[in-house]
Amino acid sequence: MNKFFMNNKNKLTEILKDDDKRIELTHYSIFAVFALVASVMTIVNIISDKKYLTIATAVFAILCLFDIILYLVISGKGRVIALVAFAIEVMFLFTYFVVSGNPDGFSIYWITLLPTFALLIYGMKYGTFLSTFFFLIIIFFFWVPFGRSLLLYDYPKTVYVRFPMLYVTCFFVAFLIEFLRNIAKEELERTRNNYHFLYEHDSLTGIYNRYGFNVEKDKIINNCPNPALALLDIDHFKYINDTFGHQNGDLVLKKVVEIISEVVQDDAVLCRWGGEEFIIFFKSADYSKEKCEEILDKIRHYDFVLNKNHFNLTVSIGLIRCHDELKPSLNRLVKQADDLLYKAKNNGRDNLVFGEYIL
Ligand code: GH3
Ligand code: MG
Ligand code: MG
Repeated sequence: MNKFFMNNKNKLTEILKDDDKRIELTHYSIFAVFALVASVMTIVNIISDKKYLTIATAVFAILCLFDIILYLVISGKGRVIALVAFAIEVMFLFTYFVVSGNPDGFSIYWITLLPTFALLIYGMKYGTFLSTFFFLIIIFFFWVPFGRSLLLYDYPKTVYVRFPMLYVTCFFVAFLIEFLRNIAKEELERTRNNYHFLYEHDSLTGIYNRYGFNVEKDKIINNCPNPALALLDIDHFKYINDTFGHQNGDLVLKKVVEIISEVVQDDAVLCRWGGEEFIIFFKSADYSKEKCEEILDKIRHYDFVLNKNHFNLTVSIGLIRCHDELKPSLNRLVKQADDLLYKAKNNGRDNLVFGEYIL
């Protein structure tokens, strides 16, 4: 029994992780709860022989069921019709409650539910609008002499002041809960986005990490008919770490990425493939060789300063270019670029070796 409950709870939690599904379920639940309560109250009203109230609750229950069907049939933005219809139905039912007071002036207390569900299903803006609108209806019937003359029930005088107070209190409590819920939701969303970003990006340089690049690779590669992939490795980087320490080494890594980004701009996607090794994925092979040469040149001539020491740095690059008709695989691109990088290192570093992609 406990296992069955836990399994279903887990399934529901999984479904409700999706924002749209959660909103959908909230709407269905509210319609269903109101349909159920109105049906039960209809039976109670029949038993206690409340003629008009029976008709009102029965019609409302049927309309709620109709809203559920409407919501099921229509999808997407059209569903707003069901939500607007529900708001109008509730307005009419609750106005009838105020006017009739049926039974014994009790019906109006159902109205205190309005702010809670209005804020829940219509959101802060429209929920507040709906709650305020109904507050004005209450005020019209309870405080305006003409409105009061329309009342079919003779409420005790205290109700005219105390009920609006109760309604306003219910609204503020519901508003506070909704407000705090929204803040918590936004915070959760921000944390989720940050977490997702950190999962796919290198925290030091902000570019893709190996995992993120692998996840996005299909999207990146499929949109580029003739890409090129460069594997760049900083020369003798161990020496930088050994001389200036790892922290300063990190600053150098950041600067190198900055220089690469400046050169390639939006023409390439960058990834920190590992340690001091980077992938430059050119969306088009055109000019990729020239861009790589520019990177080599810019880094070679950049005046790095650490602990007041000036020094120069070089990088080696293996570049693989792809033709239109070939659909490259990332693994093969990297493997072939790595072979060329190895050659560039053997050639004495600070140089580019390029080649064409082989299937
Ligand atoms: P080569 O020219 O053959 O590439 O020589 P190298 O010294 O650059 O290569 P090696 O593989 O011997 O050393 C790479 C160094 O990169 C060693 C490692 O400590 C350093 N490294 C890797 N990741 C980081 C990092 O995130 N920060 C810092 N500061 N250093 C790193
Ligand atoms: Mg290196
Ligand atoms: Mg290396």
